[in-house]
Amino acid sequence: LQSRLQMADRLASVGTLGAGVAHEINNPLAYMLVNLHLISEGLDRLRSSSVAETVDPLHQVIRETVEGAERIASIVRDLKTFARGQQEDRLGPVEVSKAVELACKMADNVIKHRARLVTQFEPVPSVQGNESRLCQVFLNLLLNAAHAIPEGDAKDHEIRVVIRESGTGDVVVEVRDTGVGMSTEVQARIFDPFFTTKPVGEGTGLGLSICHGIIDSMGGRITVESQPGKGSSFRVSLGVAGSQVEVRAEPAPVPTAGRA
Ligand code: ADP
Ligand code: MG
Repeated sequence: LQSRLQMADRLASVGTLGAGVAHEINNPLAYMLVNLHLISEGLDRLRSSSVAETVDPLHQVIRETVEGAERIASIVRDLKTFARGQQEDRLGPVEVSKAVELACKMADNVIKHRARLVTQFEPVPSVQGNESRLCQVFLNLLLNAAHAIPEGDAKDHEIRVVIRESGTGDVVVEVRDTGVGMSTEVQARIFDPFFTTKPVGEGTGLGLSICHGIIDSMGGRITVESQPGKGSSFRVSLGVAGSQVEVRAEPAPVPTAGRA
């Protein structure tokens, strides 16, 4: 419980940060990026044998600055989504298979180079949620699954998406991959904002904390099982629409009776 409280706290503060700061950062960042591109193009035109010695190192500095700014821009995009996820969601009955199918379509290009995508959908009741937010969650899980599989082994690997009903009547969506898997140390930190094992520029480390925040706001749960070298399985469980006693608008710090 303590760690869930800390998580809710951390996520709430990321949400606040996202709402207040993203806009402030994004505007100057946007014109910085435009200016840097302009300067870089200018230097390209200037480049000649006589000034190359001055221009070349400068050019490298600018390229690195552009990369840094682009990375900040992508973090800001994620933070904005996260803030929105907490504040503007309308919850209602959602056919979870629709959100999953849309996410599969969106991830298709990335997945097809790395794995066969297998879907196994059992008929389930509608869940209490928000379709576009759920789609975002499944897209994140699918992209993470794809990225856990080395490119080029598509025939040897599988990403399986299962929709089924749990023993307690919740709707469960599982995203399983046969990728690299995770150590228990990594598993313990994956839902932390900004935790990533990906190289600089490739991951923001916000994907799973956003997923956690979204699923939490719908009163659901997201859990993981993984074995290094074997693969990982993410499980999202959601309450059936109409069965909720109370609908939470944001992650509640103290769970009340019923679903945890
Ligand atoms: P990002 O993808 O930007 O790194 P995430 O929050 O989506 O951020 O994921 C955090 C980390 O969790 C990843 O860097 C990776 O180490 C680990 N991870 C997530 N999904 C998987 C998966 N399916 N297989 C192996 N590792 C994973
Ligand atoms: Mg990710």
